[in-house]
Amino acid sequence: MPTPIYPAYPTIDSMTPYKTGKPIDELARELGMDPDNIVKLASNENPLGCSPQATDAMQLALADAARYPDGSGYALKCAILDHHQDEWGDLDLDHITLGNGSNDILDLIARSFVSSRDSVVYSQYAFAVYMLATKAVGAEAVVVPSVSSGAQRFGHDLKAMAKAIQPNTKVVFLANPNNPTGTCFTHDELTDFLDSVPKDVVVVLDEAYVEYFDPEHYVSSISLLTTYSNLVISRTFSKAYGLASVRVGYAICHHKISNYLNRLRQPFNVNVMAQAAATAALADQAFVSQSRDMNTTQLQKMTQALDELGFEVIPSHANFITFKAGEAEESGVELYHALLKKGVITRPLAGYGMGAWLRVSIGLPEENDRLIDALTTLS
Ligand SMILES: *Cc1c(COP(=O)(O)O)cnc(C)c1O
Repeated sequence: MPTPIYPAYPTIDSMTPYKTGKPIDELARELGMDPDNIVKLASNENPLGCSPQATDAMQLALADAARYPDGSGYALKCAILDHHQDEWGDLDLDHITLGNGSNDILDLIARSFVSSRDSVVYSQYAFAVYMLATKAVGAEAVVVPSVSSGAQRFGHDLKAMAKAIQPNTKVVFLANPNNPTGTCFTHDELTDFLDSVPKDVVVVLDEAYVEYFDPEHYVSSISLLTTYSNLVISRTFSKAYGLASVRVGYAICHHKISNYLNRLRQPFNVNVMAQAAATAALADQAFVSQSRDMNTTQLQKMTQALDELGFEVIPSHANFITFKAGEAEESGVELYHALLKKGVITRPLAGYGMGAWLRVSIGLPEENDRLIDALTTLS
């Protein structure tokens, strides 16, 4: 058989598939271990699971499994509208786009606004999906070096990012907090940035971890939509809401932008169970608060424990923490493998050019203790 020639976009040759956290069952198979004995701190999932109301709603929705879901996602969009109404008085259903996870939203934005002649700006160490979405449309990635010192080290350098915008730049991706660094920028830094960006450049603000911010000090970014019609806020049910497996995310933006996204969106991108779960999850904010409170305490404990073990830690504002495993460039991957043998799954960051670093999600108190115990024996 002759070798087929597939003329893919040249940028696709330079892509590597997104590396997901190792599943518990896979490690159990490899090590012949009891899956119940394995701790997964690799994908920033909610260790408390999800709201029982979401589980109940999914069970009820199963009865409708034979029917196509509501392609407009009406009930879920109404719940989202209700949840954010006080942040932006003009919010209406037309400003909301549902995604199969917020990953879908990021991809829809690239496909809607960026061609192979265009460029996309994002930060060094930014969430890997920005690179994937950019290269998938054959566009040029303008990767801006991160902040190199001080409290926001490894974070987005918003001033440099504004300067990096080219005449052919169509989209800028920002993550606040960012994964895998856990860094964040302030509301004022964001508005300064938005003021300096041309109005025809779409700015995506990915707030996958926003629920972990202290609500007392959080200033709503959704309220900025009154002023900045080129802003897209992306949210997910995968993290604090604990619904990573059901795949729901959403974008809030000007209806002209959501109108484009909805042209490319697969009509049934969010399934019946997912719509029901997300709608119910929004109604249970007590669960979100409980998740945030536990994370705040455990994040503090883990930061201190890692510090006491002598690791350099990047101060985190999310539900994970990244620390330097050692001086050698492969230290992160080595420690990752050593921890796997102890039944603890973490996330190496070589794919991000941070080979010496390791990212760990904040788990239940006992799971975090397992990690610290394992690190203590290994060091
Ligand atoms: C986890 C994560 C997402 C969310 O992905 P989903 O597709 O919604 O599960 C988006 N952005 C960042 C920065 C993340 O870490």
